[in-house]
Parts: sequence; C-alpha cells; structure tokens
Amino acid sequence: MAIFLHISKKNTIFARKLETPFIFHKMSKVLLISTGGTITMVRDKRSNALVPADMETFKAYLPELFETSIDVDIQAFTPLIDSSDIGPISWNRMAQMVAAHYDEYDGFVILHGTDTMSYSASALSFMLENLGKPVVFTGSQLPVGVLRSDAKENLLTAIEIAAAKDEDGNAIVPEVTIYFESQLFRANRTTKRNAEHFSAFNSYNYPPLAKAGVHIIYQPHLIHYSDPKAPLTLHTVFDTNVAVLKLFPGIQPAVVKAVLRTRGLKGVVLETFGAGNAPSDKWLYKELKNAVDKGIIIVNKTQCNIGSVEMGLYAVSLNLMKAGVLSGYDITTEALLTKMMLLLGEKPENARELLGKELCGEMTVD
Ligand code: ASP
Repeated sequence: MAIFLHISKKNTIFARKLETPFIFHKMSKVLLISTGGTITMVRDKRSNALVPADMETFKAYLPELFETSIDVDIQAFTPLIDSSDIGPISWNRMAQMVAAHYDEYDGFVILHGTDTMSYSASALSFMLENLGKPVVFTGSQLPVGVLRSDAKENLLTAIEIAAAKDEDGNAIVPEVTIYFESQLFRANRTTKRNAEHFSAFNSYNYPPLAKAGVHIIYQPHLIHYSDPKAPLTLHTVFDTNVAVLKLFPGIQPAVVKAVLRTRGLKGVVLETFGAGNAPSDKWLYKELKNAVDKGIIIVNKTQCNIGSVEMGLYAVSLNLMKAGVLSGYDITTEALLTKMMLLLGEKPENARELLGKELCGEMTVD
C-alpha cells in the first residue's frame, strides 16, 4: 500500500511536469565515473588504432560537459578498461565510488563499454540496495573522437537524467538505468542486442522508463522507488561458482555432466526453449535432480528474449519442476547471473528463496 501511494504521488508530479517539460536543475551535482569502453576512445595518429583518451583529451572533445547548469565532477579508472575485462572486482570499484560519494552528489553517470554494460549495470542494481538517487550507465558505439559519434548525445542526456529532480527535490529516476540512443531502460532488464547500430540495447520485457526527444518524457508509473527512509546498503560479496548451461537439440549427457558436476558449483542458469521447456530424456532429469539434491541452485531462463518461463505449461517442462529447478520468469541472463552470484556470496542460506523473488524490478513474478 505504501508503495502504491508513493507511485501515485509521483504520477501527480509527472502530470505537472508534462505541462512544463523544461526542467532546469540549478546547482545539481553529478559525479561522472569513467571506466573505459569505446566512448572514452580516440584514434591514435601514429598507429591509427583506437586507444583510451586521457581525461584532458576526453574533456576537450566534450566542452559542453561544463557548459550546462549541472556541476559535473569526473573520476576515472586508471587504466581505463575495455568492458570485456570487467567483472566483480570492477563492479565493486564502481559501487564503492557511488557509495563513498552518495551524499555529495544528486546523481551518478557511469561511462562503460557496451559489451558487458548490461552485466555491470544489473550487478549494481542488486549491490546498491535502497538506492534513492539515479545511477545512469552509458557508452557509445562510435568513439568520442569520431565525427559521427553517438557519445555526445548519450553522455549529455545521461547527465541530465542523473540530475533530474521534481519540485520537492526528489530524484525522478532513483534506480540503476542504462541510457542509450534516446531511451532510458531499467538496467537489470537490458541486453546488448546490436553490435553495429546506435540502438545497442533493448529491454525486451519491460518498457523504457523515459524517452528523449526534444523533451525527456519520463514514465513514473514504471519507475522503481525504494523506501525513502531506508538507508543505502552496499552488498559487495560475489560467489562466481556459477555456470550458464544452454540446452540445444542433440545435447549430450557428457556435456551436461561436465557442467553440473563441476567441482564447487553452486548455481546454474539453465537456458531452455520457449516457455521454459527441455528435452524429456530421463538422463537429463536425473542429472538435474542430482545437482539440485547436492544443493546446487538451478534457475530456468528461456532462450527467447521476449516472454516468460511457464513451467508446467507443456509436459516437457514437468521434469524440470520435479527435479527442483526454479523459474526465472522473464529475467535476463545478465540479471539472473549477477543476482545469483551476489546472493550466493552475501546470503547463501537464503539464495534459493530470494532467487525466486523479485528484488528490484528485475522480473515479473506471476
Ligand atoms: N569493446 C568495447 C567495450 O565494451 C565496446 C564498446 O564500448 O562499445 O569496452
């Protein structure tokens, strides 16, 4: 009930905002955390290869950063890294930078390579419990130092979203998001879908939280609000003893055994067909049941981008239910993996129960 009232309050604010779409946020302060990725790169004149730009060069390409009414401070990873090299250690660095400066800034923008941005942004959505300020990830498909680059629009709009507040001074989007090519998505609903087009990300099972055209139009009824009285709580311990097992027609017992009998394994994302279906072979059921009986948590995630797992809808998913496999509903692999690693690290005794629950908007539990 409390949450419902909170949302309707925001809806009222939204209605008023629509009449005055230009919201200016004098003195808003945003911390820009640069981790690396294409957005930070320029072409090296000698080798012609793309290399990370130092902060001074980066700022020279984006003088607009310091021309708005928003106060932007920058902190950068040294060295800047390609997002293929990002994992739990870097997630901790990012989340700790946000937590350390939480009271000083109105919002945070994280520059990140696009390749694993959905993993990092999903991880931070679970790490930063009770987040009350925007943490907006962005990057670009073309380097900042290239004429047609999408870097400038992505970055400047992400900063505006991170600074956006209502007339009571509350952040408009107080959750972890990805802003890319005119759309703002809930981070833990995103997947990188395109390696070439500017529209690199999609949120297949949840609508965008905002769209940016001439005005930025927010959708408050879709935004996740934490309890405003609850303090930000940082979770940092990941257990990476997890695996993704993608089923395919003709999959052999030796392959499934090799994964499920991995020493130390604690959690598995089982990528299944359609509404969560799997071959009905007895050996598969036995392997899954043995693993579950040993305490390994297995969660059913459909290989389809759109739609939800519905175990029991077809006879071919009954074995999974009987074996003790959990439903992942409409969660993404990126969100499920990062949620699983964090719960196994932080709350191993409750991990199974919490994996079946929605924690911060990452899935629709029916
Ligand atoms: N390889 C780059 C990265 O993910 C690609 C990009 O930024 O778009 O860091």
